[in-house]
Amino acid sequence: MSVLLTVEQHRDRILDTLTPFATQTVPLPQAGGLVCAADARAAVDIPVFDNSAMDGFAVRAADLASASADAPVTLDVVADLPAGSSVDPPLAPGQAARIMTGSAVPTDADAVVPVEHTTAALDASLTRTEVTVAPGVGQHIRRRGGDLAAGEVVVRAGEVLTAFRLAALAAAGIAEVTTRRRVRLAIVSTGSELVTPGEHMRRGQIPESNGVLLAALAAESGAAVVHITRVADDGAAFRAALAAAQDAGADAVVCTGGVSVGAYEVVRDVLEGDRVRFDKVAMQPGKPQGFGVLDGGLPVFCLPGNPVSVAVSWETFVRPALGYLQGRSDLDRPVIRLRAATGWRTPQGRRQYLPAAIDRADAAAWTVRPATGGGSGSHLAGGLAHAEAYAVVPAEVDAVAAGDLVAVMLVS
Ligand code: AMP
Ligand code: MG
Repeated sequence: MSVLLTVEQHRDRILDTLTPFATQTVPLPQAGGLVCAADARAAVDIPVFDNSAMDGFAVRAADLASASADAPVTLDVVADLPAGSSVDPPLAPGQAARIMTGSAVPTDADAVVPVEHTTAALDASLTRTEVTVAPGVGQHIRRRGGDLAAGEVVVRAGEVLTAFRLAALAAAGIAEVTTRRRVRLAIVSTGSELVTPGEHMRRGQIPESNGVLLAALAAESGAAVVHITRVADDGAAFRAALAAAQDAGADAVVCTGGVSVGAYEVVRDVLEGDRVRFDKVAMQPGKPQGFGVLDGGLPVFCLPGNPVSVAVSWETFVRPALGYLQGRSDLDRPVIRLRAATGWRTPQGRRQYLPAAIDRADAAAWTVRPATGGGSGSHLAGGLAHAEAYAVVPAEVDAVAAGDLVAVMLVS
């Protein structure tokens, strides 16, 4: 009797085989989507200097202690401070500087009065202004370092360089960041029944969908597809595809199909041996899985052929592996817990990954349901169009009832 590996056992075996890439430094604009490989510390304070939060007047608050709408206090406007001005005008008692949002607050000022608290507009020709509200000390001044101090960590090693993080790094005066390069992936779909989508099909043929699925998932994961091909169930053709993947400089190959126990299992027939193992994993779909290293050292993922199995295998094994090569600290997708809108059956002894849709009608009580009415069949590729998550049901559970709390892995 063959033993089923757990998802974690198979994944750990994959990760143990791999070594994260060497680090390299890239200019910030080229780092989007890569993984930060060393804590990035702020080069400058944010804000860089004390600056105005409002368009108005930099003042000495003590001058205006008595200011009110009934008894405005008049100040002499002695300087004009547009954004980018490097002037630090001295302010004697009774004097103010006209100042724009983001401009450096004069050393002699301790508050900013917004133009709305004066009787006049921000006319550049004004030499006096009447203030109608007494400011508190520090009012409308954004303090240097109030957000982040130079030397503090902005982005931690292992975090993906999202748009938000790139912006924070740029604001902290960082020009380049230590990362690891993108993973170069090769994709090989096997199956003598496969034709290019849209092509004429004779009896027995179907459109090939795993290649486009994997290429799109690779792009979402920040990997570059350096080779993608489809081969018939033919050992020589499959070997040639692997050689081409190696020639293309791939870091890993992902194959689909030909891994189970049928008569024409080209991937298994060609690769099974000491260095590439084929196992059964306690999951549904995706039970037959192969992984190993080719003679040239290239890691190869041998996924099952059914499209839903491919999608699930990507999430459970390939995507975490790519993240590991890139040094990501979070290899897992976010998981939330939602109530099931309806019940469904799940196979006992295998963890179920059911393509699922989330009903957001009640924003405070989302629910989850199977993406297709047809159940959990791994061949239900059309249902993937409605899926945005996987309902993940433990191996020991054999049915989910409406109202049960279910773990939901968000993938979009
Ligand atoms: P296999 O493991 O090769 O027997 O494939 C299992 C099922 O998935 C079969 O019904 C195949 O036709 C289907 N299949 C395999 N590869 C693909 C593919 N690239 N695109 C769509 N369906 C596929
Ligand atoms: Mg096949």
